[in-house]
Order: sequence, then structure tokens, then C-alpha cells
Amino acid sequence: EMVDFKVFFNRIIDRFEMSKSQNVIFERDMPKSPYFVEIDTDKMTQVFDNIISNALKYSPDGGKVSFQVSEVDGLLQTKISDQGMGIPKENLDKIFDRFYRVDRARSREMGGTGLGLAISKEVINVHGGAIWAESDYGKGTTIFFTLPFETDDGGEWE
Ligand code: ATP
Ligand code: MG
Repeated sequence: EMVDFKVFFNRIIDRFEMSKSQNVIFERDMPKSPYFVEIDTDKMTQVFDNIISNALKYSPDGGKVSFQVSEVDGLLQTKISDQGMGIPKENLDKIFDRFYRVDRARSREMGGTGLGLAISKEVINVHGGAIWAESDYGKGTTIFFTLPFETDDGGEWE
């Protein structure tokens, strides 16, 4: 399905903003012009849900979660940052592995299975994009992913 990425993403963020119970501030930075992406909306919703719920799960009280979309090197890049505890450098790549969780003790109290990011990676790869993480241990985490885009929706067929 061809969707306007900004509309799709904002709708997901709105849903989290309305239902979140934590005291966390959301910040959005979206491009002015529309970017269209050909995506499986159910699967991409799962990707966003996991990344955003991770960000909320690890956010401190009063922390900020920021959402940014921009065009980088011919791809649409999405960036989701939090101000949580972060991830040690040596574990950064492993968080995309199945069942991997950074710290067993901390993860047990947080709940979850450790599948979210592995599934996200699979979905992003199938869509022709890439996903990776950056983190300042103790200061926060940023998840990046890219997707191919088009600048019009090919509407002549509708
Ligand atoms: P699930 O998503 O299946 O409910 P999960 O959230 O533990 O479980 P993933 O989403 O795959 O699993 O994340 C893997 C691990 O990466 C997490 O257990 C956590 O240790 C670490 N992690 C992911 N996102 C963050 C984040 N924003 N801040 C700190 N650690 C994170
Ligand atoms: Mg998760």
C-alpha cells in the first residue's frame, strides 16, 4: 500500500501520545513536503509500536522522546530518540538478534520477549531499508531506520 509517510507516522505517534501513562514529552520534526512509501502498513505499524514502546519503557520521568523524519542519501530516514539508560556500545548490534536483551535482570522487570527489534529488522529489510542503533550509555538511545520513497503517490491508477 502506498501511503504518505508523515500522515502514517503522525497517526501512530498520536495514538501513543493519547494513551501513554508516563510523564514523557514527545517532540516531532517532520519534513514539509510529502514522502510516499510503499509499505505493508500492518507490519510497519508493528515496527513503530515496538520502537516507540521500547523508548517509553526506558524513558525516565519527564524524559523526552523525539521523532524525526528527513531525507538522507536518497532514502527516507526515521530517527526515534529517548533519554533513557542507553545501551553499552558492545551490545548495540546484538539488540537486533532474536531473544537478545541487554541485561537479564533489568529486562525481567521490564517485561517483553526480546523479539521486537529482530522482527523490526526483518520488516525493514524486506522493505528495502536498514535499521541500526546509536547510544550514549546512561544518556539515551536512538534508533534509525531508512526506507525507499517516492515523491508522488502514482495516483493516476486510483
Ligand atoms: P519485546 O519487544 O519482544 O516485547 P524487548 O523490548 O525486550 O521485548 P526488543 O524490542 O527486541 O525486545 O529489544 C531488545 C533489547 O534491547 C531490550 O530488551 C533492551 O535491553 C534493549 N533496548 C531496546 N530499546 C531500548 C531503548 N530504547 N533503551 C534501552 N534499551 C533498549
Ligand atoms: Mg521491544
